[in-house]
Amino acid sequence: MARHQVVLIPGDGIGPEVTAAVRRILGAAGAPVEWVEERAGLAALEQGQEVLPRETLEAITRHQVALKGPCTTPIGEGFTSINVRLRKELDLYAAVRPVRNLDGVPTRFSGVDLVIVRENTEGLYSGIEAELAPGVVTTTKVATEKACTRIARWGFHYARQRGRKKITVFHKANIMKLTDGMFIRCARSVHDREFPDIGYQEMIIDAGCMALVQDPTRFDVLLLENLYGDVVSDLGAGLVGGLGVVPGANIGDGCAVFEAVHGSAPDIAGRNLANPLALLMSAVMMLNHLVETREDPACAETAQRIKDGYNRALAEGRKTRDLGGGLGTQQFADAVVERLPA
Ligand code: NAD
Repeated sequence: MARHQVVLIPGDGIGPEVTAAVRRILGAAGAPVEWVEERAGLAALEQGQEVLPRETLEAITRHQVALKGPCTTPIGEGFTSINVRLRKELDLYAAVRPVRNLDGVPTRFSGVDLVIVRENTEGLYSGIEAELAPGVVTTTKVATEKACTRIARWGFHYARQRGRKKITVFHKANIMKLTDGMFIRCARSVHDREFPDIGYQEMIIDAGCMALVQDPTRFDVLLLENLYGDVVSDLGAGLVGGLGVVPGANIGDGCAVFEAVHGSAPDIAGRNLANPLALLMSAVMMLNHLVETREDPACAETAQRIKDGYNRALAEGRKTRDLGGGLGTQQFADAVVERLPA
């Protein structure tokens, strides 16, 4: 059977634990994947490499697909975020994060099934900061017509392909008339010209967040600029059980990097407490991406077996502590492996 070479970046904090668990489950499920391990983040710095080594970028460009554990970025000082750099260097302009209820993970709402599509390359994450005078600093928010249009097109295309009915844009164009104004103008234009069959709605983000926590089932696909997408992804995670259950993908025209929404969780690192499910679900997204891009049915079968395995485990109450269970990272991985369909 043909095997796909996929770059694996263990990352920092809980990253090595959750990537090891996911690697084990994919191996047990017979995923047709050959891992090419590369470093990034503090793990790379500790080996005397750059925080985002050239070899890592080259490997992702060569193999086109990567599964990445979270990387730590020190707050308020030092190097720019490796995640932001990685997304920019590889032009991974679309972040997609499905936010869904899972059987066996009861939360305040049931029937939540929304997808967050986040612009991943500009906005306030452009890294343009300046000290104008002592005590006076600025961060520049960037919006280009090109990036706003391509993320809107990507979002609508995704919605049509997946049978989704409506896109809602959260914005603050009442205040940021130029940047957020550009974002909604581009979204409207792409909708009107190319995707009139998909519903379209705009909400000012403060009102949108209130509506989201009052009744998330009202939403289908959310289209957001960079910072709003970052914040609303964690909010979405909170609606369905927390950061342990929300996967993600960063997609460009050339390659795709799959990673959970959560960070490196230094508070629980190295203690066998982390939930590997969000990264496992990201790996399932990766297998489905291989189905689409390489037309390999074996990846579809493996993805379904893994989903069946973790759904059974959850339904039987086999969960990590963040979800109210008592299992460690490795024990949850064992529980999934034991429940993989034959
Ligand atoms: P975080 O997501 O790491 O953790 C927030 C809280 O959620 C913590 O209490 C943590 O224990 C818990 N949590 C997160 N993932 C979990 C899991 N899989 N299982 C159980 N509990 C989990 O956010 P943070 O603490 O704000 O950030 C820590 C570091 O991660 C920072 O350096 C930040 O820059 C980085 N970060 C990296 C990425 C990435 O690599 N994509 C994303 C977000 C944050």
